[in-house]
Amino acid sequence: MTKRMRLAIQSKGRLSDGSLELLGKAGVRFSNNRESLWRPAANFDLDLMMVRDDDIPSLVLGGAADYGIVGENVLAELQVDEPRFNELEIVLPLSFASCRLDVAAPDAQGWTQLSDLDGKRIATSYPALTRSAFTDAGIQVDIIEMKGSVEVAPRLGIADAICDLVSSGATLKANNLKSIATLLDSQAVMIRPQTGREDETDNTAETLMHRLGGVMASAQTKYIMLNAPTDRLDDIQALLPGSDAPTIARIAGRDDVVAVQAVCRERVFWETLERLKNAGARAILVLPIEKMMA
Ligand code: ATP
Ligand code: ZN
Repeated sequence: MTKRMRLAIQSKGRLSDGSLELLGKAGVRFSNNRESLWRPAANFDLDLMMVRDDDIPSLVLGGAADYGIVGENVLAELQVDEPRFNELEIVLPLSFASCRLDVAAPDAQGWTQLSDLDGKRIATSYPALTRSAFTDAGIQVDIIEMKGSVEVAPRLGIADAICDLVSSGATLKANNLKSIATLLDSQAVMIRPQTGREDETDNTAETLMHRLGGVMASAQTKYIMLNAPTDRLDDIQALLPGSDAPTIARIAGRDDVVAVQAVCRERVFWETLERLKNAGARAILVLPIEKMMA
């Protein structure tokens, strides 16, 4: 019997839906029992371990799970003070749960750079990253550690500024805070121990990683079909975003027009379609790509 791959993911929170959705798109099906610690895949040699995100690096490092999905921010915070966490490596960035760790301060203060915070109190759930950034910049601050709702600290008078995760910026805005600096760019990542404990789950992991890579690649890749006047073909080809050489096919009964088909590895915007049309392209179709394998 093959050993099943154990993947630790967040049980509840911003990472859990994204993780399950990504695995679903990779064709892995799970039981609906959201409350249990383990969720075995029905059609893959994979068991999900449902835990708090902060515990995932330790669980993977300790060998309770083979792989884990966490925000880069969680891993980075642990790595500042505990070198053993450097034994974990990121095997695949997963392109969701993107956010930044930003230093932000009340708009009204007019502070614009880190040095303006010299001698101030900074509230954060990321004390290690915050402390090390200010220390590296040679700026003295007091770190006030908070587990959540960091954005209210200045209003409560317990801190002068904050260092917190930001995605859209709406929370900062709602609290009259303005970003001063970004300490880290983060997204969800797949991690495992670096000293690749080679074992029987490696094949399963490799297959899964390939599929996840394909899911992410196809998410922004589109298939474009259009008709192009033969004498404008070069211009039109140059406008196709991030594509390899397109397929050019004859159209029955026409010498002046050809059919063009291309895989575009970049987002296709309305502006691109308008430019294609202005260059003479007609009957333009943009199709989603469901799966990709090179
Ligand atoms: P748990 O109960 O598992 O400890 P949590 O409260 O620590 O959950 P969430 O708020 O669910 O965690 O966030 C999980 C991850 O989502 C963060 O570590 C971060 O990588 C990512 N994330 C993306 N955008 C944001 C955001 N705007 N605020 C907070 N986290 C974000
Ligand atoms: Zn957490």
